[in-house]
Amino acid sequence: MEFSCKILVIEDDPATREMLVGLLEEVGKYDVISAETGKDAEILANSHCPDVILLDLGLPDMDGSSVLQSVREWSCVPIIVVSARTSEADKVNALENGADDYVQKPICTTELLARIRVALRHSRNSGCNTSIALNSCFKVGRLVIDYRKYRVFVDGVDANLTQNEFKLVALLGQYAGQVLPYEDIIRRMWGPNAPADNQILRVNMTNIRRKIEKDPAHPRYIFTENGVGYRMTDHDPDDEQEDTPVCRIPEKAH
Ligand code: CA
Repeated sequence: MEFSCKILVIEDDPATREMLVGLLEEVGKYDVISAETGKDAEILANSHCPDVILLDLGLPDMDGSSVLQSVREWSCVPIIVVSARTSEADKVNALENGADDYVQKPICTTELLARIRVALRHSRNSGCNTSIALNSCFKVGRLVIDYRKYRVFVDGVDANLTQNEFKLVALLGQYAGQVLPYEDIIRRMWGPNAPADNQILRVNMTNIRRKIEKDPAHPRYIFTENGVGYRMTDHDPDDEQEDTPVCRIPEKAH
């Protein structure tokens, strides 16, 4: 199964929308959804939790800046405004309302794609994990989270996580060493309207532990802080064990 980043395109002009959706799908690693109105955009943003949002300002039912504000109430997803408005005031307003970037129409496609990549890189680094910032990878013990390939490896072997499982591990990796509260995780994974009940989160975590832990009943990579949330370890769990002198990802057998 191929993993991808989800991009929400909010654009009412059919030709521009089709052009953007086509352009992004052609890249091959983006899962693209689109909305024509601000109302639909808010619904899609809430239910899909996209990784990047491209936002037109002139929408038929509301101004794009309202969408910006409502998404910002619950999400720090990168939002790139793509607009024909040229005034400095419009740009400043968008940025002050929480946009991460502003791209002028007519759209220069290579520039837009580059800005999307930058936005993704920045959001990946938001946990201030230097290893992720430098190598797009987080390594601890025998576990590697590859943020570029959307894969988790244990002892060099793909753990075959589903997209949601990957998202969850990737998020915890960004904040390794810190406890992420259940409510924060649920909001980031499933949006502001997701039920606060963490049953679905527990099911995902059970599956993840089955795939990445040697003994899922005694996890060594992702810990449960009872009643609070989950924490990814930031130090090698094998370090304290004398019977495993070398801890590194083994070379693949050829
Ligand atoms: Ca428009």
